[in-house]
Amino acid sequence: MLSTTPVAIFWFRRDLRLPDNAGLYHALKGGTPVLPLFIFDTDILDKLPDTHDPRVQFIHDTITELARSLQQAGSGLLVKKGQPRAVFADLMQNLKIAAVYTNHDYEPYAEQRDTEIRNLLAAENISFHTFKDQVIFEKNEVVKPDGKPYTVFTPYKKRWFLTLNNFYVQSYPTEQYFKNLVGTAPFPLPTLAEIGFKPTSIRFPGKIAPEAIIKTYDQTRDYPAQSGTSRLSLHLRFGTISIRETVRLAQRLNSTWLNELIWRDFYHMILYHFPQVAIQAFKPAYNHIPWRNNEDEFAHWCAGTTGYPLVDAGMRELNATGFMHNRVRMVVASFLCKHLLIDWRWGEAYFAGKLLDYDLAANNGGWQWAAGSGCDAAPYFRVFNPSAQIQKFDRQKLYVQHWVPEWESSNYNKPLVNHELARKRAINTYKEALATF
Ligand code: FAD
Repeated sequence: MLSTTPVAIFWFRRDLRLPDNAGLYHALKGGTPVLPLFIFDTDILDKLPDTHDPRVQFIHDTITELARSLQQAGSGLLVKKGQPRAVFADLMQNLKIAAVYTNHDYEPYAEQRDTEIRNLLAAENISFHTFKDQVIFEKNEVVKPDGKPYTVFTPYKKRWFLTLNNFYVQSYPTEQYFKNLVGTAPFPLPTLAEIGFKPTSIRFPGKIAPEAIIKTYDQTRDYPAQSGTSRLSLHLRFGTISIRETVRLAQRLNSTWLNELIWRDFYHMILYHFPQVAIQAFKPAYNHIPWRNNEDEFAHWCAGTTGYPLVDAGMRELNATGFMHNRVRMVVASFLCKHLLIDWRWGEAYFAGKLLDYDLAANNGGWQWAAGSGCDAAPYFRVFNPSAQIQKFDRQKLYVQHWVPEWESSNYNKPLVNHELARKRAINTYKEALATF
């Protein structure tokens, strides 16, 4: 039946949910029965270093749930594995595709992929409709009066608020149009093993926003031993929750938390306007820092054996759970770039392989902030003191004790570098390089 009826495809990517999904809403209202599609993109999967990657299991669990919900609505989720271009070429042979709908993805790889798909479809007169869904404001929606993008957060935030009205945070009521989904028996779903991955023992955080935590976020957010942040980053990354719903919650509960969600928009906007940041410093002079890039020291940093308890606790938390508290992300990143003088891209890549919430825009923004090379970054002479950070944010040593139980014993590693010497070395190295370029 599917091969003869015209269908509109809705292609799920970073928006793995049915409710309040902008692209799905527009597809359902388009008038042609909608066939939901998910592709396990081998261009991405083949680059993952580990077949136990928990993110693939998270996606697999999520699309299994999506397929179940679609089945309840009398429809199904078509799941394919391959290069998106090849998958679409094949679908075009076997289905009567009237149009394809999807939501924007701002990463350079995704932009290029979508251009190719758009061209492929256009050659057969199939339209490709794309929508904003992942952020509140995108591309040129919040720019300076002269049309140029902001590169400093505070004025960006000011304009973000001036531009905001209820329209931008309203939900898209997809459920009112589920009758426009293609009626079909469920499609078989590939198993995780068929995708080429193995199960993980890592547990995923829940997607219900913890209201009690968000209410006091401004007071608790900096203390890694407390459950003082939302832990929603994985869900915002894969779109298992809606950013509009999240922002409405922030408006109701906590302006400091809203501020963090605006940082998220900001870094997405930066990546869109300055895609070169994915491989280079935002501030070009910082491309000339003579990094030491000592591989042995890098291995200690990755393993959490630097002899600095807060750094080691953070890296061990990351390795064991796929998560690290934001305060500690800042400390370990500063330590790598400044104390060890290792290229921020090494740390960025390590985080990319481990973080459940890995997101190119936010991760790159965080790393370039710590290295000093980013837009609106920490100044180059600001070097976190990892021991003083314990005094401020883990005074009772609960976090450190949990992840580095041996930290006070003689078994614990000697510090890899002396803090004061490393701080001076970092400042001098940066100063000289920046004075030359
Ligand atoms: P909350 O504090 O509850 O914040 C709510 C949401 O706001 C987060 O889930 C996230 O979506 C967003 N958010 C919060 N802080 C930031 C920020 N500084 N920049 C952008 N968005 C933010 N965040 C990622 O989502 N993915 C990454 O790959 C990532 N890499 C980072 C690397 C470094 C070096 C640093 C310093 C920060 C990085 N962050 C990243 C930002 C931040 O650390 C995490 O978003 C946060 O720790 C996630 O925990 P949470 O969900 O409890 O956040």
